[in-house]
Amino acid sequence: MNKPQHERALVVAGSRLRGLILDLVREVHGDAAVERHARYEGDQFPEPAPTPLAGLWAANYLSQRARSEVATHVRRAREAGHSWDEVAQTLDMEPDGGRTVAETTYERFAGSPASWSLRGPSFVWRCPACDQLIADRGPYESHPEDNQPGHANGCARLRGEINRWRSSWDNTPEGRDEA
Ligand SMILES: [Zn+2]
Repeated sequence: MNKPQHERALVVAGSRLRGLILDLVREVHGDAAVERHARYEGDQFPEPAPTPLAGLWAANYLSQRARSEVATHVRRAREAGHSWDEVAQTLDMEPDGGRTVAETTYERFAGSPASWSLRGPSFVWRCPACDQLIADRGPYESHPEDNQPGHANGCARLRGEINRWRSSWDNTPEGRDEA
């Protein structure tokens, strides 16, 4: 997609979102919660807009739903084998507080260290190769087995990650930290 197309798509998405907020307000609170805004003196077709508190409620509800969609797609990305680094790049994340960008991104979804249980942090997804639930322990350790406890014995996906991890060590003098 070229740049103007991309920008137009984002503008359209923003306007659909405003439409969604208005629809939700109308459905839940009725026409009494919809005002008309004249865009200019003598406007014959004033624009409908939610009353402020009804609009605030609907925008907040949709933003929470969107957050839960974000988490769902992060889980799907991990299930598809994308690294926390790739997730971070997609989300335009920045490193924070001395942690790498992959660690910062992991903690956005697995919680901050203060919220971790005694067993440590985890973000759960199902491995498509062995069908087991994986307690994703983030990108802190180097070896995939330490980061992804839960795979079945001989899981092809885990074996593939271990092979990639091994070759990343072979290809760089100091080795690399990628999960
Ligand atoms: Zn597996």
